[in-house]
This record gives sequence, structure tokens and C-alpha cells, in this order.
Amino acid sequence: SKECGRGTFSYFDEKMNAKAAERLVMHSRLRQALGRDEFSLVYQPQVNMRTGRIFGAEALLRWTPRDGEPVGPSRFIPVAEESGLILPIGEWVIHEAFRQARRWRDAGLSMQVSINVSGLQIYRSDLIATLAAAQRDTGVPPRMIEVELTESTLVEDVHAAHEVLDALKRAGYGLAIDDFGTGYSSLAYLKRFPLNKLKIDRSFVTDVCSNAEDRAIARAIIQIARSLNLRVVAEGVETVEQAALLRRHGCHEGQGYLFGRPMAAQDLDGLLEARASG
Ligand code: C2E
Ligand code: CA
Ligand code: CA
Ligand code: CA
Repeated sequence: SKECGRGTFSYFDEKMNAKAAERLVMHSRLRQALGRDEFSLVYQPQVNMRTGRIFGAEALLRWTPRDGEPVGPSRFIPVAEESGLILPIGEWVIHEAFRQARRWRDAGLSMQVSINVSGLQIYRSDLIATLAAAQRDTGVPPRMIEVELTESTLVEDVHAAHEVLDALKRAGYGLAIDDFGTGYSSLAYLKRFPLNKLKIDRSFVTDVCSNAEDRAIARAIIQIARSLNLRVVAEGVETVEQAALLRRHGCHEGQGYLFGRPMAAQDLDGLLEARASG
């Protein structure tokens, strides 16, 4: 009935208002978060599948408001992107990740640090200048840093992306495509962009042992990467069976709860020391 229809409409309307209100509140809290020192980075180990050695870590952003519960990045990053706040936040991430890379280097550890970069940072900021400033401040060589970008980011404006990626490559940074296989882009960019690595999205890894289609996709990604001379890393590896299968199919690197959860840098130090002495 009409009555019912209207009721349903206003219900969704209210829900949408609630969602918009929540975003507004989050936005104003996010705007203060940098000044209040509420962000931190955690690091998830990346291992060589053959040797099991930890060669690097992905820096993942965490937000713990002073007066509240931690908020996950999947919740606050979209809001930060929508509002442009991802630009100052992303800049903080870059500087902090370089500082950590410096600590590892000072400790005599060879650790590559991967940094997630949003499209806005490519198109609306001087990413190269930010990286150069962090490089100057810390003295960390660019080869110790890898930039992670998603496919959808690259196809937004292929020409502009190309210029930035070429500059990154010239400066010596590593370039990885994140969540590979989930975007809607063509494969043509694989040969056009100066990439180093593909990251197989977790959605293909989770059931790689039990689902023939996921396995076919994971294998195809590994083959594409290998034939283009790119490194390939599997995300979201949780079991030894997944790791063994991916390794057997030629996957170079792994990342996931099996090897370590995202953790504070000093906890990762403990893991690195244990490995070194054990
Ligand atoms: P991502 O870049 O794909 O990062 C991997 C996500 O998978 C992380 O979630 C990580 O904790 C999770 N993960 C890793 N291994 C496993 C596993 O074995 N099992 C399961 N179930 N999950 C695993 P997280 O930390 O919640 O980050 C979510 C997303 O937020 C990231 O996805 C990335 O897109 C974004 N993000 C995180 N930090 C930053 C940042 O500094 N800048 C930007 N622009 N985005 C970031
Ligand atoms: Ca990533
Ligand atoms: Ca990913
Ligand atoms: Ca993801």
C-alpha cells in the first residue's frame, strides 16, 4: 500500500540521515586527530615464501581517538578521502613510515617498508615532493620504500598517474599494485606502468585451497607477474596449506596472519630478533 511505501521510504531516509550525521561527526573528529596525535602505524610482516625470511613490512594506519574506541581504516579512510583530509593524514603516514624505516636501518636490519597511498595523494598533492622531504629528513634510501596503489587509482587519469609513477621509479621507489584482480581496469597498464610487484587480493587467497576458480585466478595472477618479471605477493595468507599451495605455484612472497598480524614496530622488532637468533 501507499502507507507502507511511505513508511519504508522514511525509514531509509532516516537511516541515510543517520549515516550522513555519523560521517559529519567522524569528519570533525578526524580533523582534530592529527593535532591530537591520535594516529599510529602498525606493521605487518612480509615474508619470502621460499626462505620464510621477513624482508619487509606494510605500514597500516590506526586511529584511536583520545575519548573513544579505535576506529578501523576501512571506516575512516573513505571519510578522510571524501573530505580531502587524507592529504595531511597521508603526509603524516609517509613521514612516520620513513622514521620507522630509519630506526630499522639504524638497528642494522634490512627492512623494506610499504606505504599505502590514496588516489588523491597522486592527483591532488605533490607526492614526489613529500617523499623527497621524508627522504631528506631521515636519510632512508628510496629502495627501502615501496608505494602501494590500487588499480582503480591508476585508471582514474592514466596520463597523470603515468607521470607520477615514472617520477617515483626514477627516484628509486618500489611500486606495488594493491588488491590486484579486484579492479575493473585492463591489463594493458601492466606493461605501461613501471611496476615492481602485484599483490594478489585476499579475496582470492581465502579459499585458494578449496575453490577451483579462486585457485585459477591466483595462478593466473602469479603467471602474469612472473612473465612480466614482476614480484608477486599473496595477501591474507592464514594457513600453511594456502602458503604451500601459493609457493608451489610460484608466488614469491606472502603476507597474512600466518606470518604475523599487523603489530607495533617494537613487537615486530622482537619477532625479527627471535628469527635472527633462532
Ligand atoms: P590493504 O592495503 O589491502 O591492507 C591489508 C588489510 O588486510 C589490512 O587491514 C590487514 O590488517 C588485513 N589483513 C592482513 N592479513 C590478513 C589476514 O591474514 N586475514 C585477514 N582477514 N585480514 C588480513 P586494515 O589494517 O584494516 O586496513 C584496511 C585498508 O585500509 C587497507 O587495505 C588499506 O586499503 C587502507 N589503509 C590502511 N592504512 C592506510 C594508509 O596509511 N593510507 C591509506 N590510503 N590507506 C590505508
Ligand atoms: Ca595495501
Ligand atoms: Ca591489499
Ligand atoms: Ca584491501
